[in-house]
Amino acid sequence: MVCPEYWQDGVDAAICEGIRLLGGIESIFGKEERILLKPNLLAKAEPDRAVTTHPTVFKAVGAYLREQGYEHLSYGDSPGNPLGGVARVAAGCGLKEPAEELEIPLGDFSQGQKVNFEQGQTEKEFIISKGILDCDGIVNICKMKTHQLERITGAAKNMFGAVYGVNKGAFHAKYTDADSFGAMIADLNNLVKARLHIMDGILAMEGNGPQSGTPVAMGLLLFSKDPIALDTVFCHLIGLNPELVPTNRYGQQYGVGTMDAEKIRVRTIQGDMTVEKVAKRYGKEDYDVYRGTEKATQIRLLKPIQSLLQKKPYILREKCIKCGICAESCPLEKKALEMSGYPKYAYKACIRCYCCQEMCPQKAIDVKVPLLARIMDRNWKI
Ligand code: SF4
Ligand code: SF4
Repeated sequence: MVCPEYWQDGVDAAICEGIRLLGGIESIFGKEERILLKPNLLAKAEPDRAVTTHPTVFKAVGAYLREQGYEHLSYGDSPGNPLGGVARVAAGCGLKEPAEELEIPLGDFSQGQKVNFEQGQTEKEFIISKGILDCDGIVNICKMKTHQLERITGAAKNMFGAVYGVNKGAFHAKYTDADSFGAMIADLNNLVKARLHIMDGILAMEGNGPQSGTPVAMGLLLFSKDPIALDTVFCHLIGLNPELVPTNRYGQQYGVGTMDAEKIRVRTIQGDMTVEKVAKRYGKEDYDVYRGTEKATQIRLLKPIQSLLQKKPYILREKCIKCGICAESCPLEKKALEMSGYPKYAYKACIRCYCCQEMCPQKAIDVKVPLLARIMDRNWKI
């Protein structure tokens, strides 16, 4: 749905129309079910920074469900830094007010429970937040953003917030590369299946996402029952090969959804369109996203010069306030980031999970692609 701004009446109408095009809300959720609205609540940030789901979109979804007679609603997410507490983060992102107005209580994200997942390809059990386990169905209200590790954070990656608190850090320490991390996210999407995915792409984020990037007007709200198809359309809109996103590849491999553009039917109020046509009409080819293939880092013979080929985070001292959140966020037992005045990286130990960059509240951590890697990768563009 084209939706150029966060004007409540316009967003309300777009939410209503988007869900109608999917076949109507009653084809997705039963009236007696307990429905959780799962926004992106990565960290406390003003809505116009495009870090989190915008309150106007959240309110439109909540109000729509209320109007349609859905009584048992709750909302919540497990923020990147669990010490922040979901209530504080929700208030800081502007979601507390509409939630109170619509009498949508916050789910319980203060505790988690072990859930067995025998069919998991990566994990046989996950610690899932109680707020997720307490509901029957989920509306995943994700944000259109870039991500340093997975390139984009859309529908599939937003479900990482189902994992309880500090356990998210443990997964980063265990799945140390984009591929294995993406495979784990695909498994998680099979365990915790949101039935409706709505992507807030009215004001998206490009560049140094998911917290420190630049807001960019895309003027779109995307809807799908399939998170992989939704993320695939997002990729096409920004000129990124969907196969370069591990959550897409493993999502398709593990049966979460499809990334085959030929099989994706894009319904619009102007009628059905191909993914290609949608990308051409509504996309932004110069969207600032990492398009490098990183093939050079995978060549065994080049292992000795790996450090000259790998992307790496670095500190922008002029922005840093020495708060230490980056070092706290590092999931490694022996931190790869030391606070000695300004934070200092131990690049040999660093696994490039970018948790530090993700949680820096000052946009003081950027990521650079070494010159040699750029030369070796003709597709390089950021
Ligand atoms: S989190 Fe950001 S601002 Fe805080 S110390 Fe680290 S780099 Fe500096
Ligand atoms: S220093 Fe940053 S990128 Fe490196 S392992 Fe720690 S959190 Fe991850």
